[in-house]
Amino acid sequence: MGIGQLLVMDKITLHNKTFKPFIKNDELEAIIDNVADRINADFEGCTDVPIIICVLNGAVMFTAAVMKRLNFNVELCSIKLSSYVGTQSTGTVLVPLGLTSDVKDRRVIIVEDIVDTGNTIVALKELLYSKGATDVKICTMLMKPDVYAKPDKLDYVGKAIPNAFIVGYGLDYDELGRQYKDIYVIDE
Ligand code: 5GP
Repeated sequence: MGIGQLLVMDKITLHNKTFKPFIKNDELEAIIDNVADRINADFEGCTDVPIIICVLNGAVMFTAAVMKRLNFNVELCSIKLSSYVGTQSTGTVLVPLGLTSDVKDRRVIIVEDIVDTGNTIVALKELLYSKGATDVKICTMLMKPDVYAKPDKLDYVGKAIPNAFIVGYGLDYDELGRQYKDIYVIDE
């Protein structure tokens, strides 16, 4: 079998679109090690119990992977905000699922799968501060620097990627593709 055939076999189809391999799981694991090391260093010796906020559904896998590597006590809660329909950001941030923990007087680390325009993460950060969080850090597996349009600092970024639509490792295309352990990019 030639290389061309192998590459074709590596592609996946979700609904009406084809995606090709982009970030292999080995690289993701290294990215996650690095992010967790930085969080552990910043929170070394902490006596409070920070809250990890998993942004559902996309950040489920990344959150679990980061949490397994943390060496201080954390509490987990989840929130659902969505600004995407199909492959384009709509710019509207919906809040269909609320916070499951009281963040008042707590330090919080938001864990996201990907930051694109930043609308989602900044809306969530403001929501958490309005509910009394004392410090809100942002941790994201991936970000798109060409699209990010907010002044807010992203504290822990796994990897910066070009502006293309990706799926896998929690990320979906209209709810499909979340289960893949590698990340795929749209094949245009
Ligand atoms: P933002 O609010 O930063 O524009 O968008 C962030 C959210 O949009 C992410 O949590 C994710 O759900 C979704 N998103 C952004 N870029 C992509 C992408 O390339 N692929 C997928 N599947 N979702 C994305």
